[in-house]
Amino acid sequence: MLLKQNPKRIGRTDISDLNDDPVVVWQHRNYIKCVIFMGMIFPTLVTGLGWGDWWGGFIYAGILRIFVVQQATFCVNSLAHWLGDQPFDDRNSPRDHVVTALVTLGEGYHNFHHEFPSDYRNAIEWHQYDPTKWSIWVWKQLGLAYDLKQFKNNEIEKGRLQQLQKKLDQKRQTLDWGIPLEQLPIIDWEDYVSRAKDGQALIAVAGVVHDVTAFIKEHPGGKALISSGIGKDSTAIFNGGVYNHSNAAHNLLSTMRVGVLRGGSEVEIWKRAQRENKDISFVSDSAGKKIIRAGSQVTRIAEPVASADAA
Ligand SMILES: [Zn+2]
Repeated sequence: MLLKQNPKRIGRTDISDLNDDPVVVWQHRNYIKCVIFMGMIFPTLVTGLGWGDWWGGFIYAGILRIFVVQQATFCVNSLAHWLGDQPFDDRNSPRDHVVTALVTLGEGYHNFHHEFPSDYRNAIEWHQYDPTKWSIWVWKQLGLAYDLKQFKNNEIEKGRLQQLQKKLDQKRQTLDWGIPLEQLPIIDWEDYVSRAKDGQALIAVAGVVHDVTAFIKEHPGGKALISSGIGKDSTAIFNGGVYNHSNAAHNLLSTMRVGVLRGGSEVEIWKRAQRENKDISFVSDSAGKKIIRAGSQVTRIAEPVASADAA
């Protein structure tokens, strides 16, 4: 309204259905007359002829109401692009918020509206405030509106899921999952054993070497049990031989890893795990980071293996 729009940036769309509607065309041709009559003269007549309050009708029901409705309407282009969540896509500015919905009579679920623009709804949940949608629905029941467009739920949920996945990826990147295996130094078995003998609290599980020095005191199973695994192949002990460690334990253990054993069994274990459970694989998120699902940590093995000399 205040700025001239760049004609190159105007989105073109097919409005032949509107051009074919005689009521719409009549209103478009007589727009200013309609605005002055319905916006100012009509409310003045109602209050003036009704109970003699000509100025009240003109100022409150006319001028002031136009001012308020215009401010509310243009909140769709300000508030709705600034306040709230972005459940379907966050690469553009539209947002969903109940306050915007209250101010704009339902235009508050604007992220949805930009993603699915031909859908007659703004709010898709029954509990969200969208009186515009409710009005259109009532008009449909009365035969005044027809051919209401609605996007398939399948498409809507895909967008929602992708946005959730993006949020999960962002959250994942803030957490410590341990040094990636491929970045760890390779340690020979003899070297591992001798470093453990020299007093370093190293524990090998599934071919990965962990430094548990700072954790020995914290070990929920006690000092003695964790110490008994130092300098050995503790794969079986950790995976149920003595105690079947929790998912949280596998996660925590991975933050302590400092190396992989040369010829270590992690590759073999992964191959076997993948054969047994096709769902387990190295899947990367949008940032290329491996997704470590519960139950698929490298230290987790499908079934306890007999503890053998790893050398
Ligand atoms: Zn918008």
